[in-house]
Formats: sequence, C-alpha cells, structure tokens
Amino acid sequence: MSDCLFCKIAAGEIPSDKVYEDELCYAFNDIAPQAPSHFLVIPKTHIDSVSEINGSNSTLVAHIFEVIAKITAEKGIKSYRVVSNIGEQAGQSVPHLHFHVLSGRDMTWPPG
Ligand code: AMP
Repeated sequence: MSDCLFCKIAAGEIPSDKVYEDELCYAFNDIAPQAPSHFLVIPKTHIDSVSEINGSNSTLVAHIFEVIAKITAEKGIKSYRVVSNIGEQAGQSVPHLHFHVLSGRDMTWPPG
C-alpha cells in the first residue's frame, strides 16, 4: 500500500533499525521500546491485521513465527512476549500486520 508506514519501512523507503530480513518478512527495533528488547516483525506484503489472515496468507504468518523463534534463539532470548494489537480499541496504531516481540523485563498479566 503506497501510503502505509510499514510498507515503506519494509521497502527501505523509510529508515529503520533492522534486526532481520528475508524475502517474505522484515524485523526492526521499535522506535518507542516498551521493554529492554522490543522489535517488530512484519510481512513485506500488506496485510491490515490478524483479522485479515486466511488460507491465502497463513503460510506467510507461520513463516513469521518461525522467524521469531529463530531471531530470539540467535539473540539468546529465552523468555519473551509476542503481541499483535487488532483495531483501535486494542491499541493498534499502524494498520499493517505486525508482531511485537518484547523481552528483558518482568511482564505482568493481564496486560493493560
Ligand atoms: P501498534 O500500536 O500495536 O500498532 O504498534 C505500532 C508500533 O510501531 C508502536 O510500538 C510504535 O512505537 C512503532 N513504530 C511506529 N513508527 C515506527 C518507526 N518509524 N520505526 C519503528 N517503530 C515504529
């Protein structure tokens, strides 16, 4: 999508602090980290949110979870939280599917 912030980041049109990249997805550090380690993993193709996952794109989402496992293993991160906000009330501010990966501090439950 031409006016999507994360499409532009994935395409390298807006700078970001890259953590990982392959042909399908891109990972980068969050600009406003909520934990000592906080990065986002996004598909390079535009998907609005988890609500739009279906049989045509779920293989890509499975790949993203493999990438999360790979990145965290390589960084030696043993305990972490994966979060995806869907819609305004849940706190989604960027309408491009992304998974927050947070670690490095005690987490509370339930989340706020
Ligand atoms: P959400 O609010 O769940 O949609 O998550 C969007 C996340 O994107 C927030 O944690 C923001 O801090 C982060 N963010 C927004 N703009 C950028 C950017 N240019 N580079 C890195 N992270 C960003």
